Amino acid sequence: MSIKPTDKPINFIRHQINDDLDSGLHHSIQTRFPPEPNGYLHIGHAKSICLNFGLAQDYHGSCNLRFDDTNPAKEDVEFVESIKADVKWLGFEWQGEIQYSSNYFPKFYAYALELINKNLAYVCFLTAEQTREYRGTLKQAGKDSPYRDTSIEENLTLLTKMKAGKFSEGECVLRAKIDMSSNFMCMRDPTLYRIRFDKHHQTGNEWRIYPMYDFAHCISDAIENVTHSLCTLEFQNNRHLYDWILDHLEDFNRPNRPHQYEFSRLNLEYTVMSKRQLQQLVADNLVSGWDDPRMPTISGLRRRGYTAASIRDFSDRIGISKVDSMTDMQILEDALRDNLNTIAPRTMGVIDPIRVIIENYPENSIEILQAPAHPQNEAMGKRELFFSRELFIDRADFQEVAPNKKFKRLAINKEVRLRNAYVINATTFDTDFDGNITTVYATYDATTLGKNPADGRKIKGVIHFVEATKALKAEFRLYDRLFTLENPGKNDHFEQLINPDSLVVTYGVVEPDMINSEPEKAYQFEREGYFCRDNKDIDKLVFNKTVSLRDTWNN
Ligand code: ATP
Ligand code: MG
Repeated sequence: MSIKPTDKPINFIRHQINDDLDSGLHHSIQTRFPPEPNGYLHIGHAKSICLNFGLAQDYHGSCNLRFDDTNPAKEDVEFVESIKADVKWLGFEWQGEIQYSSNYFPKFYAYALELINKNLAYVCFLTAEQTREYRGTLKQAGKDSPYRDTSIEENLTLLTKMKAGKFSEGECVLRAKIDMSSNFMCMRDPTLYRIRFDKHHQTGNEWRIYPMYDFAHCISDAIENVTHSLCTLEFQNNRHLYDWILDHLEDFNRPNRPHQYEFSRLNLEYTVMSKRQLQQLVADNLVSGWDDPRMPTISGLRRRGYTAASIRDFSDRIGISKVDSMTDMQILEDALRDNLNTIAPRTMGVIDPIRVIIENYPENSIEILQAPAHPQNEAMGKRELFFSRELFIDRADFQEVAPNKKFKRLAINKEVRLRNAYVINATTFDTDFDGNITTVYATYDATTLGKNPADGRKIKGVIHFVEATKALKAEFRLYDRLFTLENPGKNDHFEQLINPDSLVVTYGVVEPDMINSEPEKAYQFEREGYFCRDNKDIDKLVFNKTVSLRDTWNN
C-alpha cells in the first residue's frame, strides 16, 4: 500500500519525498520543527509547523519538536513553555520526547574531536576583525588563517582547554578546514564552536563552549534520523556546509542521512515578523505583551480570536514555494472568516450605544423573543432575547435626516426593522449639551414580529439592538492593522510606524446570556463582526474584535 497522500496539492517538497519513497531511499519520512527558544512563535512559524507536522501526518511519518538552544544568551524557559503550548494549540502532537539540541552537547563535542582528528578542524586565534579580513569578499578569495596548520595533537589540546574555560570569550574559536576560496562564503573555514560564559537555561554552567547553528543543526537532524530537513530560503547556501559536515562524520556518511530543502518564508503585510523586532515592540511597551491581540504571534492571534483551524487553512491556502513574496493580510482574514462563519453563534452587541424609547410599548413589560443561534445551522439551536420599551441601538444607526436613498438605518419618520424583532419608526430625539444624540423616541408596529407589514410597506433596513433593562455592560477592543505601512520591517524606525488606530476601546452593551461567554470562543455580533471574550481580562466582559464581517480595509 502506498503511503503517499493523493488529496493534497503537490509541491516541490512533496515531489522530493515521493521520489525518495519510490527509489527506496526512505521507507517513511521524519521531519522536525526546530525553534530557537528566544521569543514567542509567530504566524511565520505556524507555516513551518503546518508544513512539518502536516507532511508527517499525510505520509504517516513522524515529526518531532526540537529546541534549537545552542545560544545561551538570548534564550529562556518562558519561551520554551510558550512554544510547546502554541504547537499543541495549533493541533499538532510531536513524536516522542521533546528534544533539546543542548542534550547533544557531549555528542557535538565528540564530533568536533572527530573532525580535528581527521585534520578537518582547527582552533583559530584571529580576532573577529582579522577573521573578517582574511575571509575575503564575494569577488575576492580569502586567505588561509596562520593557525590552519596547527598539528592535530595541538588542536586537540586547545579544544580541551577551550572547553575547560581556559580561554576568555572571543579569544579563539574552532573552525572547519574547508576552502578559503570557496564561492560560498559559509564554506570559508566557518566557525564550529565559540566560547560563551553565559549560563544556559538547560545545562547551567557546565559548558564554556557552544556550537554554531550550522554545526549543531545538521548533526541534531542526523541524530534524530530526520529524513527531510525543511528550512527557509536564507539557508540555501548553508546547505553546502550541512552536507559537508555530515559527509565527513563516520556516523552519518550514508545515503539516507538527512537532506535540507528550502522554502520561502512567510512575510505578511502590515506587520513585522522577526523575533528581534517583535521583542522590541514588547520591550518598548508599544504593545501590551507578546500576546497583544495585534501581534502576529500565535498567542496574540489566539487572544484576538483566531482559531487553530483557520491558521491551518491559511497555511494550506498560501502553499509552499521558493518565491519570496509578501502575503496579503486578506488571505489570512478570509480563511478566518470562512471558519468563523460556520462556527460562531450569533448574538447582538451595541458598541457605541444610544437609548431608544418605544413610546407605544407598555411600561414595565418585557417580552422574550427567539432567534436562531446560527442562520444556516439549525442544530446550533435557538437563543432567547428580550424586547421592551427601552432598548439600545448603535449611534451609527440613527441620523435625524437620512443622507440619501441608500441609507438603510433609522431616521426621523423612516422605518427600520430591529433584527430578530419588530419594525420601528423614529419620531424625535434628545441631545446632550454638546449636541450628541442621547435618546431616540420611536413607535413600534406590533404586527411585524417575524413578518412584513400587512399593508405592503417595504422595510429596507435592519439594525441590531439590545434590550436595556437586561443589557450587560461590556468593553469592546477594536483592532486594526498594527502598522500603517505594508512592509514596516524594512524601515529602520519601524516602531514609529504603528497605526495610532490599531486599538480603539469602546464601552457598550451585550445580550445577558453573554455572561456565560467563554474566553477565545468566537461569536458573531450581528452586523458588527466576529468577537471573542478576552482570555486575560476575564473579571469583566471584554470582547476583542477578531475580524470584520467583510473586508473593509480597501474600501
Ligand atoms: P525569526 O527570524 O523570526 O527570529 P527564526 O528563523 O530565527 O525566526 P526559529 O525559532 O529559528 O526562528 O525558527 C524555527 C523554524 O521556523 C525554522 O525552521 C524557521 O525556518 C521557521 N520560520 C521562522 N520564521 C518563518 C517564516 N516567516 N516563515 C516560515 N517559516 C519560518
Ligand atoms: Mg533561526
